[in-house]
Amino acid sequence: MSTTVSAPAGAADATDVRVISHWIDGAERVSTSGRTAPVYNPATGAVSARVALADQAEIDEAIASAQRGFEVWKDYSIAKRQTVLFAFRELLNARKGELARIITAEHGKVVSDAIGEILRGQEVVELATGFPHLIKGAYSENVSTGIDVYSLRQPLGVVGIISPFNFPAMVPMWFFPIAIAAGNAVVVKPSEKDPSASLWIAQLWKEAGLPDGVFTVLQGDKLAVDGLLTNPVVQSVSFVGSTPIAQYIYETASRNGKRVQALGGAKNHMLVLPDADLDLVADQAVNAGYGAAGERCMAISVVLAVEPVADELIAKIVERIGKLKIGNGAGVDGVEPDMGPLITGVHRDKVSSYVDIAEQDGATIVVDGRGFTVDGHEDGFFFGPTLIDEIPTTSRAYQEEIFGPVLEVVRIQTFQEGLDLINSGQFGNGTAIFTNDGGAARRFQNEVQVGMIGINVPIPVPVAYHSFGGWKASLFGDAKAYGVHGFDFFTREKAITSRWLDPATHGGINLGFPQN
Ligand code: NAD
Repeated sequence: MSTTVSAPAGAADATDVRVISHWIDGAERVSTSGRTAPVYNPATGAVSARVALADQAEIDEAIASAQRGFEVWKDYSIAKRQTVLFAFRELLNARKGELARIITAEHGKVVSDAIGEILRGQEVVELATGFPHLIKGAYSENVSTGIDVYSLRQPLGVVGIISPFNFPAMVPMWFFPIAIAAGNAVVVKPSEKDPSASLWIAQLWKEAGLPDGVFTVLQGDKLAVDGLLTNPVVQSVSFVGSTPIAQYIYETASRNGKRVQALGGAKNHMLVLPDADLDLVADQAVNAGYGAAGERCMAISVVLAVEPVADELIAKIVERIGKLKIGNGAGVDGVEPDMGPLITGVHRDKVSSYVDIAEQDGATIVVDGRGFTVDGHEDGFFFGPTLIDEIPTTSRAYQEEIFGPVLEVVRIQTFQEGLDLINSGQFGNGTAIFTNDGGAARRFQNEVQVGMIGINVPIPVPVAYHSFGGWKASLFGDAKAYGVHGFDFFTREKAITSRWLDPATHGGINLGFPQN
């Protein structure tokens, strides 16, 4: 069965484009809110569709449908739930190319990178197929004479997932395979900038046999988010996005009595020691700095070069930047570029303004991506790879997240100076050290105040059976995404103390506290 959602064609103006709708009760639900937002094809700059923005009635309807879905799904046997998950995994794997093209059309990243994001999400689906082992309880026999204690884990109910624009498939997949496997019903609120991937996934779940209402897509803006944060039916909120919004989500959802996992922004540093292989470092800095046009929360934004390596390393990075092909992520005549555009013109201008700030603050702009255009795509939201040397650490361009293809170099004298700089920043998402010195790497992993660390690995996104999450302003709360944390987050534990009464051992009346 084919999907009803296809890659947007890209229209010249906003008047004749389709409206991307919700998915409620196992079908697309046309919005009647009268509110929409534009969705762009970032490579052409054209409005390719408009996305519905839910009103309060649609928010309530989506949550009520999810509650009905939960009532059905929670009683599905483990074996039946596993069958649906395996079917979903097979469909996703077979048809990931369709989804990748939808992502590229709305996000702009190159198709092979979109496939990569789907495969990292698929890892979590594969982990979730093994859920019976991960949510099974424990049993202790005869804790006291004739008394057994056992525990079991139950689903929470309706759970909300609010995702950012930069991984429209992978980030929701960090959460919903585990939530659904554990017996919950999910309401996904995608980014309004690239809302189609979630709709395509909803269709896939239906084909896999998931009952209606268990996977709901609620398109919208702050109103929809606030609806999830405050509706008493919603039991938990999983959020990924920028730090100020993550903090708002954490505080508001907690105040409303919900479980929250809220992952925020980042500014990831790569510490390069003088003994490192500089060709390897230059390759990895370019891959991690400019992949997906720097719109990754695990992108490398800062290279901390322990002297005397900075001049040689910068020369190697410049040489590699010169060979990068930038263009339409969908490819032209079957040839895919290395890097696509940024998500919107507004974001491109914001990235550009950070390069202005760096320049004003005295940094050297070694490679300047401002004003970059692609032939035949002059209205696309392109920004060229940018390399900034000697960025002052007092500059806002160093301290804040830029989220674009901008790599900054800070020249330092010692390992300790690098460690102190990383630990003094507000974020703690990812970091990497490049060295052949095992002792230095071991000290780094021990002392750095960051949640995910790469040792000669630039983008250390943990595999599905470990958990993903940063420290400090990169994660609010204590629940990371996926892995064992994910199964704990999406289930509630009960402990049962049981005795089958036997007149011979029954102790009669005793008002004291139970003892062994
Ligand atoms: P964003 O915070 O602007 O939006 C994220 C979600 O929040 C969207 O669904 C959006 O509709 C909603 N939202 C936006 N403003 C809101 C408001 N005022 N009230 C309520 N909801 C609101 O983030 P983005 O620009 O879509 O994504 C980029 C950010 O996400 C970057 O900061 C990046 O580092 C971060 N990110 C972090 C991780 C991680 O794992 N830590 C992963 C991916 C992205």
